[in-house]
Amino acid sequence: MQVISLYIHIPLCVKKCAYCDFASFAGRMAHRDRYVQAVCREIRAQAAFFGKRSLRSVFFGGGTPTLLTGAQIRAIMDTVRECFVLLPDAEISMEGNPGTLTRDNLKAYRAAGVNRLSLGVQSMDDGLLAAIGRIHTAAQAEEAAAMAREAGFDNLNLDLMYGLPGQSAAQWRETLQKAIALSPEHLSCYSLILEEGTPLYEAVQAGMCAALPCDNIIEEMDGITARLTRENGYAHYEVSNYARPGRTCRHNVVYWECEPYLGVGLGAHSDVDGRRFYNPEDWEAYLEMAESGETARQTEGENRREDRMFERMMMGLRQVQGVDMARFEQDFSVKPEDVWPETLERMTNGGMMEKRGSRLRLTERGMQVMNGVLVELMDEFDSKQQMDG
Ligand code: SF4
Repeated sequence: MQVISLYIHIPLCVKKCAYCDFASFAGRMAHRDRYVQAVCREIRAQAAFFGKRSLRSVFFGGGTPTLLTGAQIRAIMDTVRECFVLLPDAEISMEGNPGTLTRDNLKAYRAAGVNRLSLGVQSMDDGLLAAIGRIHTAAQAEEAAAMAREAGFDNLNLDLMYGLPGQSAAQWRETLQKAIALSPEHLSCYSLILEEGTPLYEAVQAGMCAALPCDNIIEEMDGITARLTRENGYAHYEVSNYARPGRTCRHNVVYWECEPYLGVGLGAHSDVDGRRFYNPEDWEAYLEMAESGETARQTEGENRREDRMFERMMMGLRQVQGVDMARFEQDFSVKPEDVWPETLERMTNGGMMEKRGSRLRLTERGMQVMNGVLVELMDEFDSKQQMDG
C-alpha cells in the first residue's frame, strides 16, 4: 500500500483577515466539539476505505488549528494513530496564529505529538498587521515563538507576507530581519495575492487603502529576501520557501512532488491511489457528510493522464531541485523532452532551465520569470493536445 500524507483542515478563525479567501469561518467556536467529532469520524471512514496506511506527514491547516484545545488536538491525533501507522520520523505540523497561543495550549499540542509549528506572523509592523486585519501584534508573534521553544518545538516555521498595501522595501527588510532574529528553522515568504471578493481587494480597487507596491519595489523586496535568507543559512528550495539544512517542510514537498495525500475536514482535497476527490466547503454539508459516515463524493474532473503530466511539471518546477525526469518517464511512459520538445530546448538554450542528474530545473534566472516559463509550457502542451485530439 502507498505511504501517504494526511491533511486535516480546521476552518475556524477568530475573525477573517482582510485578504483571506480560504475556507474558514469566524464565530463558530461553539461548534468546535461537533467539528472535531466529525473529523474523527471522517478519518475512520477514510481508513476503512483506503486501509491502515503508513503516514509520512500530518498537517493541521486552516483556518486556525490553534483555536482547538490541546484535548481536541489529542482526540484527533489518537484517532489518526488508531486508523493509520505514523512512520517513526513522521512530520506533524500545525499552523498557529500568534493571537491564539498560550504556554498551556502549546505544551498540550506538543504532548499530543505535534512536532512542527508554523506561525502566521505575516509582518513585524503593527500598522501593516492592522491594515490587513490580523488579530495579533508583532510583539505577540515574538512571544509566541519564544513560548513555542519553551514548549519544546525545535522545528519552527514563520509565515511572512510582502507586497502589502503601502509597504516599503525598508519595512520588508525590517520584518525579515526581526523574523530571522527568532532563528526559525524555516521561513515562508509569500507575495500578497489580491483575491477578488476579499475586503482588501475591494479597498484597493476603491482607493480606500494605501496602494500596493509597484513592480520595482517588489523586485527590491525579492532581492532582500534572497540576500538575507542566504546570509543567514536558509536554503531557497521552493519559490516561496527557505529552510535550514534538513528542515524543508516534508508535507509541502509531497504536494510539489505530486505524491499521494488524503485530506480530511471541510473543503479538503485528496489524491490517493490515482483517485482525486474533495469535501464540501459548506459547513452544514460537510458535517452532514462526515457525521453520516460517508466519505467525499465530489471527484475532481476526469483525472486525465495529460493533466497529471502537466501538473507534475508545473509543481516540480516550483522547487529549486526541479522535476524528477526519471520518475516522470516511469509514471507516464514518455520523457518530458518528448512532451515539450520546443519549450525545453528554447529554455535550456536561453539559460532558463538546466539538467542536474535526473532533475530538470529552472536556473536562478528562470526562477525569476517562472510565470512566463509556465505559460510557454502550457501553450506548447495545449497546442499538442489540440493536434492529438
Ligand atoms: S487567520 Fe488565516 S485562515 Fe483565518 S482569516 Fe486569517 S488568513 Fe484566513
